[in-house]
Amino acid sequence: MEILSAQEEDVLKYVKEFAEKEVKPLAKQIDLDQNVPESLIRRMKELGLFGSYIPEKYGGSGLSFSFLVRVIEELSAACPSTALVLDGALTLFAEPIMMFGGEHLKQKYFPQIVEGAVGGLAITEPGAGSDAASIKTTARKDGKKFIINGTKTFISNGRIAKFFIFDAITDPGKGSKGITTFVIDSGTPGFEISRDIHKMGIRGSSTVELVFKDAVIPEEYIVGELNKGFKVIMETLDAGRVGIAAQAIGIARNALEEATEYIKSRKQFGTPISDFQGIQFLLSDLYTELTAARLLTYEACKAWEKHEDSVLLSSMAKLYASDAAMRITTDALQLFGGYGYTTDFDAERHMRDAKITQIYEGTNQIQRVIIAREILKGK
Ligand SMILES: Cc1cc2nc3c(=O)[nH]c(=O)nc-3n(C[C@H](O)[C@H](O)[C@H](O)COP(=O)(O)OP(=O)(O)OC[C@H]3O[C@@H](n4cnc5c(N)ncnc54)[C@H](O)[C@@H]3O)c2cc1C
Repeated sequence: MEILSAQEEDVLKYVKEFAEKEVKPLAKQIDLDQNVPESLIRRMKELGLFGSYIPEKYGGSGLSFSFLVRVIEELSAACPSTALVLDGALTLFAEPIMMFGGEHLKQKYFPQIVEGAVGGLAITEPGAGSDAASIKTTARKDGKKFIINGTKTFISNGRIAKFFIFDAITDPGKGSKGITTFVIDSGTPGFEISRDIHKMGIRGSSTVELVFKDAVIPEEYIVGELNKGFKVIMETLDAGRVGIAAQAIGIARNALEEATEYIKSRKQFGTPISDFQGIQFLLSDLYTELTAARLLTYEACKAWEKHEDSVLLSSMAKLYASDAAMRITTDALQLFGGYGYTTDFDAERHMRDAKITQIYEGTNQIQRVIIAREILKGK
């Protein structure tokens, strides 16, 4: 299924080469160091990846959402933590400003992203995960400013982001109708990282808890309208979920390609283990599942791009691709036998990395809730 223009296909060839030659060889060390090196982020900037999705008017190259999704897939096949740096900056930070932000926010932040500044999205709180409307962070109006208090947790790109989109209660007692979305710059007094969170997978990605203690931001930092921030977050996640589906496909593809090479060279009973029908049938199922996940993800991507109602498709893509990635990486490890369980091969890392795609940007249980709701609405 073709989703890119001929020009984008040409550019993607360079991205694939970069991912294969410059990112993949570092992936194991990135996992061990729990850090994506600054030099790699700079290379992504030099290659124009940060500017790829930013409109030309702000210094970017205005390429399509489909291109971004393909870039996330390629980078994730090499190193999903590195992919998340770019994904966070573009689908989680730039996208809501693109959809809902005023011109002043676009002019302030987009040129910085083109120059490689990373962003993040801070919505989860210690007491508000799946139930995103139950946040406790408050934004109290004080003249032309807002005073922010609260805690956000599990925030990706935390240590490296220069700015974050976040949501807070502006009209208490109104639930999702009393939430406003804002942007805040790192380094704002009263806004700090309270702890690093260590994880089983995507260990190169910085995940932190953030605390607001009387942090003051100007009212111009509202993204969209006062008390209409929940919609901003939900629509951002619709785009974000397609990005996570692409991340899942990238991880699964890499795991499967490595396992395919291994079974051709590993001999038991006097023959390569790829000669055994039991292995071949497993391989057939895994490639079929990967292809189905990719087609669904590209379909969701196209729907989002055409501004069609894409809630159902993006939830289905995220659900299916992440479940597929978990099954594929688990079976790919199995194909390595005992060696798959060791750190001599990357199969165990792929399995650890795949797991997060079933959890973030709405767990897969929540995707099923959304899918059922959309079906019952008659979508
Ligand atoms: C590595 C990592 C990075 C993350 N990055 C970000 C980020 O950048 N920004 C951000 O804002 N958040 C981020 N998150 C948070 C992530 O989106 C949440 O962890 C996720 O939405 C689930 O919330 P929770 O952890 O509070 O789980 P809970 O909501 O407490 O859920 C616990 C369990 O109950 C299930 N459950 C809950 N409600 C229902 C229901 N109605 N029906 C059936 N089952 C249900 C869930 O599926 C889950 O299995 C990140 C998380 C991780 C681990």
